[in-house]
Amino acid sequence: MPQHRITQAIRIRTERTEEKEHSSPLFLTSSFCFDDAEEMRAAFADETDANIYSRFSNPSVQEFVDRMCALEGAEAGFATASGMSAIVASFLSFLKKGDHLLSCSSIFGSTHTIITKYLPKFGIEYTYVPAGDQQQWEAAIRPNTKMLYLETPTNPGLDIIDLEAAGKLARKHNLIFNVDNCFATPIGQLPIQYGADLVVHSATKWLDGQGRVLGGVVVGKKELVHEVYLFCRSTGPSLSPFNAWILSRSLETLDVRMERHSSNAAYIAEKLEKHPAISFLRYPFLPSHPQHAIAKKQMLNGGGILCFELKGGLAAGRKFLDSLKMLSKTANLGDTRSIASHPASTTHAKLSPEERAAVNITPGLIRISVGLEHKDDILNDILQALQ
Ligand SMILES: *Cc1c(COP(=O)(O)O)cnc(C)c1O
Repeated sequence: MPQHRITQAIRIRTERTEEKEHSSPLFLTSSFCFDDAEEMRAAFADETDANIYSRFSNPSVQEFVDRMCALEGAEAGFATASGMSAIVASFLSFLKKGDHLLSCSSIFGSTHTIITKYLPKFGIEYTYVPAGDQQQWEAAIRPNTKMLYLETPTNPGLDIIDLEAAGKLARKHNLIFNVDNCFATPIGQLPIQYGADLVVHSATKWLDGQGRVLGGVVVGKKELVHEVYLFCRSTGPSLSPFNAWILSRSLETLDVRMERHSSNAAYIAEKLEKHPAISFLRYPFLPSHPQHAIAKKQMLNGGGILCFELKGGLAAGRKFLDSLKMLSKTANLGDTRSIASHPASTTHAKLSPEERAAVNITPGLIRISVGLEHKDDILNDILQALQ
């Protein structure tokens, strides 16, 4: 019986043990036993898919991966200890000295550091193109361009990049198309439908959804994921079985959680948009968003993040954070509890004002990760802080 991907994310599980447990057990073991020398030889020779060692594979990790593959519509996947290790693995499994990576300037801060500081150490070049400009994307492609790496919606500015156009460009120039789908989650956006070869996630955010564990995953085409597996099997950024077990349980509620995060965020965005203390507010599903049409085309919901610019700039941004009574002031996002952050004085404080402007981080920008509290409690806390 074919099942919907949402059902699969709930029902896919490790094989039951003799105890016939209903919920999946946690396989907290670093290695696995063999009955005899021949069974062990065959496993090491890749003639069977028996588990050997948890750096390579583990049933609790595999359950999480299988559920993610079902959700993203992917052939295969490999789970990592954090979102960053998933991103690094997706780069280093394919890029070599002399290769060129094409990406966008408004990407996650640590990804920016990998691309601009570490990849060049290995002779891997890069070009950043502004989010909106499709023509510039094509013009920046060189004979040695190997990968197109994108994030949409971007963090924290919520730029939307056209996945369909990017997918076509990648096909035309034979590039590996790699998408960070952390902000939208597979409930909100399916990059593989638009031609993504690889999709990477920080499972730390919405996938966990309760701010408990770090994790990451790379899913996509089987032959590409096999390369990621070989890279991780040797270098060791593999996800811990305990974290995988937590994350796998979380996927059972991802669909209902994202529905509420998104409807709460849409409600708050609409109520705040015309507030006199705010010069602009961005939410992908508001008609005022500059790339609203693209968002509507490729996103299944508007997501749980919104951002707005305070007219009072940097000082107002800090004052706003200090005036909040309920919203958490923390670096994470994608939690049951709503979170506010002020990138210009925190995550992006080390950039120059020009660098911040280039990635759409204005002095008074506030990013809200909308939680699962009652929508009016979230709204009222923001309103009193704006006051
Ligand atoms: C948080 C985040 C990452 C990094 O994930 P970690 O799990 O913190 O390593 C990557 N991309 C985006 C868009 C993120 O928000």
